[in-house]
Amino acid sequence: MKALVFHGPGTITWEEVPDATLVEPTDAVVRMDTTTICGTDLHILHGDVPTVADGRILGHEGVGTVVQVGDGVRNHAPGDRVIIACISGCGVCTYCRAQFPSHCLAPEGTSGIGWVLGHLIDGTQAELVRIPFADSSLHRLPPTVPDELAVLLSDILPTGFEIGVRYGQVQPGDTVAVVGAGPVGLASVATAGLYGAAQIIAIDRDHHRLDVAKRLGATLTVDSSSSDWKAQVMTATGGAGVDVAIEAVGIPETFTMCTDLVRPGGHVANVGVHGRPVELALQDLWIQNVTITTGLVNTTTLPMLLRLVEAGKLPVEAFVTHRFALADILDAYRTFGNAAQTQALKVVMTR
Ligand code: NAD
Ligand code: ZN
Repeated sequence: MKALVFHGPGTITWEEVPDATLVEPTDAVVRMDTTTICGTDLHILHGDVPTVADGRILGHEGVGTVVQVGDGVRNHAPGDRVIIACISGCGVCTYCRAQFPSHCLAPEGTSGIGWVLGHLIDGTQAELVRIPFADSSLHRLPPTVPDELAVLLSDILPTGFEIGVRYGQVQPGDTVAVVGAGPVGLASVATAGLYGAAQIIAIDRDHHRLDVAKRLGATLTVDSSSSDWKAQVMTATGGAGVDVAIEAVGIPETFTMCTDLVRPGGHVANVGVHGRPVELALQDLWIQNVTITTGLVNTTTLPMLLRLVEAGKLPVEAFVTHRFALADILDAYRTFGNAAQTQALKVVMTR
């Protein structure tokens, strides 16, 4: 089979590798029909994730067709069309039962980051992929949901919803600010309305992305490079600050923007993955009664978000900006990696 293989920082190749096969009775092998590229894949490509080994097949998002299942798989059979969750868990360990499959304790996932596809095990940017714990990691795809929307459910929609909106405890009537309008921040924008946010403020310096935020439900967009960005948000909240500030960039400056914007008693939900320490100004924050949360996505909300997409109650078409054949994945990487010029958000590859 052909696959996108990581060979150390800066080098990926589309090359012939041995076919993915069943290893454990709880595995399935899935033929990839549609996959996509995540910002995390670019972090890996740039060498920011040293735990990814030379020879690893990348990718953790995708839709495919089951071709083979192990004897222990009960929910899926060859021919089933499925969405692959980016996090795979055994379903029975302490963490999986506590709804934290991202910390699954099953043996191969002992690094503390569970079974993230395309990281410690081979991923979905390939013609075939082995999926461990298929019963809990694969979700039947309804025929009415197009692949290119379903693929958003592997990672970005659950991430923006679980770690942004849910950890931020958005309540009916709230004002929510989302700092960073990349695919993940836009997923928070698109899902903040599910809990009845009255105002959703998207903040970025990329005007094209702010336009997409509007199409996904933002009620106000703010250019973070303008000198009065904070005043614009304060005006929109009558001077109080926002109820929930969601950080979806992953740099110290934007974390500080969130702690600056939140009202007393509000929530800061950090979604961004930080490569450097942030400034946590507890000397100022303690008196504000602010709650700060963060975490790795668990994808436990995937089935619920899928039902909403299927029902047309979560219109997410605006995410998909570019389409490629799977064999042209290196072109897709170049397009996605140069988003400032190409205006790429989600770049989708199909078989
Ligand atoms: P992205 O790089 O595509 O988007 C980041 C956005 O931030 C861009 O639109 C950029 O213009 C904007 N930005 C940069 N600097 C800014 C500033 N100073 N002010 C305002 N906006 C600014 O990234 P993404 O794929 O959307 O992911 C966002 C973050 O979420 C990343 O850190 C990623 O690693 C993280 N992530 C976390 C999880 C999790 O489980 N917690 C899962 C997936 C991704
Ligand atoms: Zn587990």
